[in-house]
Amino acid sequence: MAKVTINNLTKLFGDNIVVNDISVEIPDGTLVSILGPSGCGKTTILRMIAGFEVPQAGEIFFDDQPITGISVNKRNIGMVFQSYALFPHMTVAENIAYGLEQRKLSKNEIRVKVNAALEMVHMEDYAERKPKQLSGGQQQRVALARALVIEPRVLLLDECLSALDKKLRVEMQLELRKILEETGVTTFFVTHDQEEAMTLSDYIIVMNNGIIEQMGTPFEVYEKPKNTFVASFLGKANFFERNQKLYAVRPEKVSVSKERMDNTKKIGRVSFITYSGSITSYTIQVEDKVIIAQQQNTSEKGQINKGDTVYIGWDELAQISLEA
Ligand code: ATP
Repeated sequence: MAKVTINNLTKLFGDNIVVNDISVEIPDGTLVSILGPSGCGKTTILRMIAGFEVPQAGEIFFDDQPITGISVNKRNIGMVFQSYALFPHMTVAENIAYGLEQRKLSKNEIRVKVNAALEMVHMEDYAERKPKQLSGGQQQRVALARALVIEPRVLLLDECLSALDKKLRVEMQLELRKILEETGVTTFFVTHDQEEAMTLSDYIIVMNNGIIEQMGTPFEVYEKPKNTFVASFLGKANFFERNQKLYAVRPEKVSVSKERMDNTKKIGRVSFITYSGSITSYTIQVEDKVIIAQQQNTSEKGQINKGDTVYIGWDELAQISLEA
């Protein structure tokens, strides 16, 4: 386990600046998601930490040790990618044992560690199966066990749950979180799914075009986004200007009612409604602008229908002040 420090890291492919002078410090034992749109440089950062790509400038430290000059296999890193890349001709147990054999551990040590790793990911009963006899979720568990069994200083996960269906993915997110809390390994998790990043992370790094827009806890980046990019990348937001300052208000902070409320700010007309079980979203036309409001569905609420005239309000505290 290690604290990871990235100082002024820059990577170019030809003239294209893919990672642009980023600096960040990741505390030991934390899980950090790197979140951002396709092509913003997420995987390239992971590949530089792993040693597959060499930066043009900057340095990466594990604790106080610079690692740029250290070869891939000496960095002691665990990796899991979207395609699980298990060795198809080896059993589950052999796949997990592989990294330990490379490190020349004794047969007995290997057996003990492989069994513990299988238990950790609840795959004890599958030790003798080949990867193709496993489901996607099971293969992903084995890939995780294989990455963790070597007791890496840093774990790199690149879109590792993306191939799973929604339900299994949510289950695996919680399981992953538990396993990583138990092992305490510093983990980088690349994703473009904001919900996944919120569920899993101690910290989220929001990237755009090779730079870090903001790093913070899930609460901070959602409740206190610095700018419009972060506010709109992590969920929905209503933006407005007042006294030449820019503000955002999250849809769930906007109250909607057919009757005037104490905090009524505007009157509008409901142009669209989407119902998704626990939540209803209202698109409300206010003069030439659109406001999105979301409300928890409770049985007592009076029904609001498309076409209704509604009062819209929010508390002053719900207004997030943004950088221009
Ligand atoms: P995605 O979410 O789509 O995986 P990403 O944020 O992980 O995207 P990267 O894979 O880091 O993005 O790629 C960043 C940019 O660098 C992209 O424009 C990509 O085309 C480019 N790129 C990545 N690897 C190479 C390479 N080996 N040679 C040239 N360009 C590359």
